[in-house]
Amino acid sequence: MKVVVCVKQVPDTKGGVKFNPDGTLDRGAMLTIMNPDDKAGLEAALRLKDQYGAEVTVVTMGLPKAEEVLREAMAMGADKGILVTDRVLGGADTWATSQTIAGAIRNLEYDLIITGRQAIDGDTAQVGPQISEHLGIPVISYAQKIEIEDDHVIVERQYDDRYHVLKAKMPCLITALAELNEPRYMTPGGIFDAYNAEITVWGRDKLVDVEDSNLGLKGSPTQIAKASDKVRKGAGEKVTLDPAASVDYIVDKLKVKHVI
Ligand SMILES: Cc1cc2nc3c(=O)[nH]c(=O)nc-3n(C[C@H](O)[C@H](O)[C@H](O)COP(=O)(O)OP(=O)(O)OC[C@H]3O[C@@H](n4cnc5c(N)ncnc54)[C@H](O)[C@@H]3O)c2cc1C
Repeated sequence: MKVVVCVKQVPDTKGGVKFNPDGTLDRGAMLTIMNPDDKAGLEAALRLKDQYGAEVTVVTMGLPKAEEVLREAMAMGADKGILVTDRVLGGADTWATSQTIAGAIRNLEYDLIITGRQAIDGDTAQVGPQISEHLGIPVISYAQKIEIEDDHVIVERQYDDRYHVLKAKMPCLITALAELNEPRYMTPGGIFDAYNAEITVWGRDKLVDVEDSNLGLKGSPTQIAKASDKVRKGAGEKVTLDPAASVDYIVDKLKVKHVI
């Protein structure tokens, strides 16, 4: 069994978000982590490795620095890491990103592809389903439990107040929720091996069946019109009044704002 896991290196938003003057994220200036949903997807793949001896390949598209997230995945137990990086891929929206990742995956054998449901920076939840569309395979999103039965995968798909159990023939793509499991820690031996492990690096020339017109900023149908930090609320207004006057004061304010 062969499992491909897509992992994205994302900014650690706890450290604050920084933008370039053109509104894109200044990724170089921020600390980074493995996207949490992807880590759960990786853990699910590693459990298939523990149970069935599955081979786990992690794929990321990003700057050369994104190699770090592959080494982290390998220190957790992934067998191979592939970094897709090339200047012409920069500025990609979800369409161009999913075209790129699908183009890379076409080089690989796979029974199962696992992506996170959503990246905590782009936040669109589009890339996983788009990859499955490009590759012409079924997708089951929002997986909270994954089991294998012969050549089928059985998935609990989460809804707000219920779940559905879905079954699909492999090859198939699953998008994983962070709640799927508790990801394992890297082991000291794993960290040592991952530090020395060879990472495969692919550029545009390795992408199969992808037109230049679908890559990078030029191949991105969506554009960021404007990006900014959240406007912070002001300090507010402090008044000291007795209870009856406070009520009148608040009612007047609400009337001015047409709330009542
Ligand atoms: C015009 C435009 C320009 C942009 N320019 C930039 C830019 O210059 N720099 C920039 O960083 N972003 C840029 N973006 C944002 C970019 O679109 C998203 O980061 C990217 O397409 C992935 O979308 P998402 O983060 O919403 O992923 P989601 O769809 O939320 O991700 C779902 C899952 O897909 C997988 N996945 C997503 N992205 C990757 C990846 N790169 N590698 C491996 N797996 C992945 C992960 O498993 C992830 O959990 C730009 C967007 C637009 C519209």
